[in-house]
Amino acid sequence: MSDPCRIPFLDLGREIRAVRPGIDAAISRVLDRGRVLLGPELEAFESELADWCGGGTVVGVASGLDAIELLLRAHGIGPGDEVIVPSNTCIATWIGVTACGAAPVPVEPDPATRNLGVPGLEAARSPRTRAVMGVNLYGLPCDIDGIREFCRENRLTFLLDAAQSIGATWRGSRIAALGDGAALSFYPTKNLGALGDAGAVWTDDLSIADQVRLLRNYGQRDRCRHDVVGRNSRLEEIHAAVLRVKLQWLDEWTDRRRKVAHRYIQNLAGCEAIVLPLDHSNAPSVWHLFVIEIENRDAALAALAEREIGTAIHYPVPPHLSGAYRTHFGPPGRFPIAERMAERVLSLPLNPWISDAEVDEVCAALVDVLDGIP
Ligand SMILES: *Cc1c(COP(=O)(O)O)cnc(C)c1O
Repeated sequence: MSDPCRIPFLDLGREIRAVRPGIDAAISRVLDRGRVLLGPELEAFESELADWCGGGTVVGVASGLDAIELLLRAHGIGPGDEVIVPSNTCIATWIGVTACGAAPVPVEPDPATRNLGVPGLEAARSPRTRAVMGVNLYGLPCDIDGIREFCRENRLTFLLDAAQSIGATWRGSRIAALGDGAALSFYPTKNLGALGDAGAVWTDDLSIADQVRLLRNYGQRDRCRHDVVGRNSRLEEIHAAVLRVKLQWLDEWTDRRRKVAHRYIQNLAGCEAIVLPLDHSNAPSVWHLFVIEIENRDAALAALAEREIGTAIHYPVPPHLSGAYRTHFGPPGRFPIAERMAERVLSLPLNPWISDAEVDEVCAALVDVLDGIP
């Protein structure tokens, strides 16, 4: 997750150093108390995050993937059901659907926003469709109003994979508080990251929250009473305590991410070889990633690496062409927008700790590198 680059794609050490005293105190509190699972840190984190989202209920689970699976299961979605997902997403979106027993049904994104919109949803809908799982890819909200209306008209559940978009708003409301429920990830590199795996479900329906609480702990309501076949998917006290510390910084960190993104956009706006990411004025991105599109992406990545500038690809293989789903959706050609993106996307270093001078250096190097590629 960190690399020896002069300008690393992401150096989590910088983030940890920035809040180290708070982390040390939080961990000490957990150790002093001696309670390591399903204790007061988790309860406090759940309620602080729900307040921060502007309402609803948060239930911590062990990962973002589990949040997707358990959110779907809590909504009664399972074998025989279909869930519409974007063709271009982190494979975890699809795996969460598969894990609950349902089938992911891909829809191509709008190539400009790289997110799901209404076009394509109707053609993908069948009598088995139960839900649409929107993804706010790279931190940019998908078409919340349009998808919500489509779901309402067709009596579908509108869920969000908000793993990359914590803190994003849509017309002033936090994304997690829109739709019928959202899955959050606190994977260490996410905008709000734990020191290991963690995730959460957000819902405004108390019975869904109750179901997720059962499912995350073997279906156990009281000791020795198991109401459903649940899982073991608990957000550990140590992680909850650390997340409480980092949550206090999240707005400031998001502001810095936005400044960095706007500096990239300003610096690179004149470069015709680069397709820059869009932003919405009424629903600004939280810039989990800054993803450009270029020809000859692999050559550019290698040339930047030679100059010790770390970049990454999100994602080089669309889920339908991965080994996990290829037999069902292959050969290539069925989802050309996702396939073209996979060949062209390049993520530049964007995090709250990169300096303006470093951003400028990445931009200058990128323009130079692109000039040199035939
Ligand atoms: C990170 C991520 C996930 C999975 O989260 P984990 O905590 O790694 O399980 C799911 N969906 C998207 C869009 C993600 O970026």
